[in-house]
Amino acid sequence: MTERIQKLSPLLANQIAAGEVVGRPASVVKELIENSLDAGATQIDIDIEQGGIRLIRVRDNGKGIHQEDLTLALSRHATSKITHLDDLSQVMTLGFRGEALASISSVSRVTLISAFATQSAWQINAEAEHILALQPAAHPAGTTIEVRDLFFNTPARRKFLRSEKTEFDHLDELVKRLALASFSVGFTIKHNQHYVRQYFPATISQASNRLHALCGEAFVEHAVHIESEGAGMHLTGWLASPTFSRSQADLQYFYVNGRIVRDKLVAHALKTAYHDVLYRERHPAYILFLELLPSQVDVNVHPTKHEVRFREGRVVHDFILRSVQDALSSMKPTSSASKIEAKTAILSLQHVVHDGEVKKEKPIVETHEQLTLYRSLCEDMTPIQNELNHPPLGDALGQLHGIYILAENTEGLVLVDMHAAHERIVYEKMKAAYVQQTIPTQLLLIPITIVLSEREADLVESEQSFFQTLGFCVARMSKEHIVIREVPQWLADGPIEQLIRDILADLVEHGESARVEEHIFHLLGTLACHHAIRAKRRLTLPEMNALLREIEYTKHSGQCNHGRPTVRQLSLTDLDKLFLRGR
Ligand code: ADP
Ligand code: MG
Repeated sequence: MTERIQKLSPLLANQIAAGEVVGRPASVVKELIENSLDAGATQIDIDIEQGGIRLIRVRDNGKGIHQEDLTLALSRHATSKITHLDDLSQVMTLGFRGEALASISSVSRVTLISAFATQSAWQINAEAEHILALQPAAHPAGTTIEVRDLFFNTPARRKFLRSEKTEFDHLDELVKRLALASFSVGFTIKHNQHYVRQYFPATISQASNRLHALCGEAFVEHAVHIESEGAGMHLTGWLASPTFSRSQADLQYFYVNGRIVRDKLVAHALKTAYHDVLYRERHPAYILFLELLPSQVDVNVHPTKHEVRFREGRVVHDFILRSVQDALSSMKPTSSASKIEAKTAILSLQHVVHDGEVKKEKPIVETHEQLTLYRSLCEDMTPIQNELNHPPLGDALGQLHGIYILAENTEGLVLVDMHAAHERIVYEKMKAAYVQQTIPTQLLLIPITIVLSEREADLVESEQSFFQTLGFCVARMSKEHIVIREVPQWLADGPIEQLIRDILADLVEHGESARVEEHIFHLLGTLACHHAIRAKRRLTLPEMNALLREIEYTKHSGQCNHGRPTVRQLSLTDLDKLFLRGR
């Protein structure tokens, strides 16, 4: 270290800055592919050696780089994508900071070959930013960039690289993320001279082919297409049904104006939308594309542009939440089981329940999604009968081992997991009562006194009305004592003191009702489980039929609170197959 201040050499400054953009081969590939996409390429071929550590070559058929700009392309703060500060608020390209190629070329050996429009091709070679050669080359319209020996001059960075396989896996995942957002572009990946991936260009109607290649067959089978519009925003994509949940958050792709982002606000909206239909430790799977005016989102928050900042965060959050919730509660039929799910969802739109009695009402069809679903089902259900002559879940035949209800409907045999289905019904009722503030309450014969810290007792006092909406009547007795006089009926025999302590802990920690509400729904879920009919309980036929009818008009009744399916259909054809009939 020297005592005096001196200016860093441009190379050193770039090498330091490169750390922000270029962490590993995958991040180089990301920058190169984004450049190809920005250049309007329709085919991108990626050639990798030794996980990208030895070689990364990206070739595209985009618009190319003008011969006179080749040197500039490799220098810092040089871009063709913006010219004024104002352009920043209108950015529609993936890149705009003009630093990727400079960063990459400061830590590797780069060859850039490009043919611009009808001009002949030129090639530039650079090593750690030194231009070694600029000469004519042979290349069709488009650009090829070769990046060799990544971090050859920055051994400290090189040490952080993992095995060839790990680096390749990262890179592979990255290409997948980019390919998901660019259906019309073809991609190939070669690793150590062998083709390992080929994603054919797809029109949106062939989308499932690409989804299949990228996310697997099971995802495609369980995914429904979502399309929603509102508040100047557009959300499209695919949501997997909750029964296709994952143990890791590894199938979650969210794009904002074509750019993949990881955003807390978006993640929260999705988690909230799914939290009701998924078991806590499970993760939903989705691929979603949000489009909004570029002026509504700041993409210049992070060098790798993985993060964005929304101007109206709350509005974006609520739009995503509502759109996904709508889609989940009216999932379109994809198989006979989810057909029932969808039918029951639509029936729930047409029935309101008053004091346990089903009343007929005009269908409440609010969203475009519901309307399309409603129409398709009207055709499908030939016709919907509000008398329910042929109820979707049919007539009960009996009980199997005290666990399953068997019923006969027009399609064949219906199997219902009695406990799981009832649990969902009870849960939805509890939630409705909570939301409408009509939780039935019960006076305690012997009030419960609880000793708390002064801070907690203060909270009890200031949050009286909040506790009331939950069905509790609580009062402060002294500095550190509270008394509970009335509790929600469902809780009369429950661990009341523990519950109050948990709610207070949440209030102290988060201080906002959204988190507390999450906690409450979780709690209602647990309560619902306790209140649902236990397995082994014998039901009479009328009881079974009553349960089937309740399932039909309960939201989300296709899954229990933990996301397991509650109803399965075996059609006559399925049964014939089982017995090899008609062969
Ligand atoms: P940015 O993408 O932020 O503009 P880069 O350093 O990634 O910065 O690229 C610098 C410039 O080089 C781009 O603005 C673009 O004009 C040009 N460029 C880079 N890659 C390509 C490519 N594959 N096809 C056409 N032009 C490219
Ligand atoms: Mg770029």
